[in-house]
Amino acid sequence: MNLLKKDIIFSDVDKLKGIGKKLSKYLKNKRIEKVKDILLNLPYSETDRSKIIDLNKLEVGKIQTIRVKVKKLNFPRIRNLPNKILCEDKNSNIEIVYFNSREGYLRKLFRVNEWVVISGKISFFNKKYQITNPDYVTSIDKEEYVKQIIPKYSLTKGINEKKYRIISEQVINNLPDINEWYESHFLKKNNFLNWKENIIALHKTKDSQNNLSKTYKRLVFDEILANLIVLSNNRKKIKRIKKNKSFKSAFCNEILKDLPFELTKSQKNVLEEINLDLKSNTRMFRIIQGDVGSGKTIVSLLAIANVVESKYQCALMSPTEILAKQHFNLAKKIFVNTKIKIEFLSGKTDIKKRKKIINDLEEGNINIIIGTHSLFQKKINFKNLGLAVIDEQHKFGVKQRSDLAIKGGDDCDVLLMSATPIPRTMMMSLYGDMDISKIKEKPKNRKKIITLSKPEKKINELWSFINKQINSDNQVFWVCPLIEESSFLDYSSAKKKFDIINKKFPNKVALIHGALDKIEKEKILNKFLKKEIFILVSTTVIEVGIDFPNANLIIIENANKFGLAQLHQLRGRVGRGQKQGVCILLFKEGLSKNAIKRIKILKESNDGFFIAEEDMRLRGFGDIIGYQQSGIKNFRFADPIIHQDLFLLAEKYIRGMSINVNDGKYSFLLKLFDKAEIINQNID
Ligand code: ADP
Ligand code: MG
Repeated sequence: MNLLKKDIIFSDVDKLKGIGKKLSKYLKNKRIEKVKDILLNLPYSETDRSKIIDLNKLEVGKIQTIRVKVKKLNFPRIRNLPNKILCEDKNSNIEIVYFNSREGYLRKLFRVNEWVVISGKISFFNKKYQITNPDYVTSIDKEEYVKQIIPKYSLTKGINEKKYRIISEQVINNLPDINEWYESHFLKKNNFLNWKENIIALHKTKDSQNNLSKTYKRLVFDEILANLIVLSNNRKKIKRIKKNKSFKSAFCNEILKDLPFELTKSQKNVLEEINLDLKSNTRMFRIIQGDVGSGKTIVSLLAIANVVESKYQCALMSPTEILAKQHFNLAKKIFVNTKIKIEFLSGKTDIKKRKKIINDLEEGNINIIIGTHSLFQKKINFKNLGLAVIDEQHKFGVKQRSDLAIKGGDDCDVLLMSATPIPRTMMMSLYGDMDISKIKEKPKNRKKIITLSKPEKKINELWSFINKQINSDNQVFWVCPLIEESSFLDYSSAKKKFDIINKKFPNKVALIHGALDKIEKEKILNKFLKKEIFILVSTTVIEVGIDFPNANLIIIENANKFGLAQLHQLRGRVGRGQKQGVCILLFKEGLSKNAIKRIKILKESNDGFFIAEEDMRLRGFGDIIGYQQSGIKNFRFADPIIHQDLFLLAEKYIRGMSINVNDGKYSFLLKLFDKAEIINQNID
């Protein structure tokens, strides 16, 4: 067979023989669009069809291969009855059964007295061995094609093993040589195969089933590195741009004087780092990482103050309307004694107002605009945007990040904020394009949230406690178990609980859940904020960043279903005001050792970063909220826990190399992991 041409690897699958429109549509459902996607679609298991089994040694339920002589063809004349072919070997006989088959087709396959090789699942029916709709039937001279250990891929409607095999073997057996991007000594040192051998091994051995095999690890390393190259390129591009703006950093001190509190040491440090960036002649691309309630917003507003004083506009964007509104109100309060003009823009802003805002932004009549991602629509143009701040950045991917950096223009500094704790090993791979500032401590006046655990059967003891809370004007969150990734199931359990609580505290309770639309959710949250209701029963949909200063009690049902980091984020919703916050974790009977350990960690620590690392050690990533949105899940092969060493190795590798993305050395790698577009878009 001929080797495939190199460029076919990145062509659409329908360029391959035997793939038409219909099949390529089915493949698309499996995320297979380009030929290279076939390479990355690894087998999850294999089917051993390699041995010919005598008919007296068949095992029911197994997929087996037999060599038999065709005895008799039986095509009933009654519709819906299956066609049957009786076959035998020297020991016994078997019936091959076909539903919905064409007679002519079967007559060609099975000729009486000729030998055939058949492979399929063995069943036993009416005292006879049978194979129904066998996977393979072939003449003996072609039996080698069937008698093999055949990789098993997760397939979808419209594609069976036989069909997919024709496609995948066409690619894998005919791979062209490609220029390896790693030096041979690097491959050797890490026990890596070259790319082609590696990908072939992943398809033809059991290696793909072991994410610590050397072949799988090479693939993981490739994936991590592709990611790092994009980020590093992003960073280089941003840092290459020279800003041309003057900057004053004194104004924030005046604002600081009027604040009712003093900044924490961490906040001061971070503000300092930001001011240095703002002053420097390269663009800022920085993320503030800080636990929920650590006071990121005020830091960003102080930076904004300086930029406005330096005669530039600023934009502050939040993922939700309520959060944006809270930032807006805070900004108005902070800047009340100044001439700074602040406006709010969201999808809900009416057309007239919107037009005026758009106009005022262009004219430079607005200094600070705060809102949702409406702020970054095409229609919005700034006179001179000097700083863009993005809150809860985990909702935005690398692509949006770089879009934003481009949209802001050369003089626009970019500041992001995130409360999602990222384990150290992942830092580079997720934020490698940015500088990182950490707020490590909470404001001093903040009381530590008291965390208690209680078995669920003692739930009745809670009512009087809740009653007391409400009577002293406190508000309560009641979080219902996360059952599965089905918003409907979550909803039904929250609904049940709502009914129970609503009977005990009529007119004081509301229910919020993922099946509600955004507007409806915000309506309910607003009611809670305005203290029209006192208990909010919810699934885990409540936004992390919203400040509910009056909520002091959170009850979390079925708490062992949640990750530690998630529990920590949930409890961070209470105790933000002056009063003591309390978090009660409800458990079903019989906690496991691990669960007890986890509660202990939660009770003892209030440090989101520490908790996240512990969480990872104790139960892996899968179900930690926040991570799901943080981009970690964007890795298809790499697992931050299992492949920690490879993350570190990739980090070292990228530091040590002077990548010039334009020289094409890594272009194959980047294309393989769909990164080329992001990079190209970034090359001016
Ligand atoms: P987050 O980091 O979660 O975004 P916020 O910026 O919303 O936190 O701050 C949470 C609350 O803490 C706000 O009400 C804010 O005014 C208050 N706060 C911020 N910094 C301090 C401080 N240094 N001392 C006391 N309170 C502070
Ligand atoms: Mg916040």
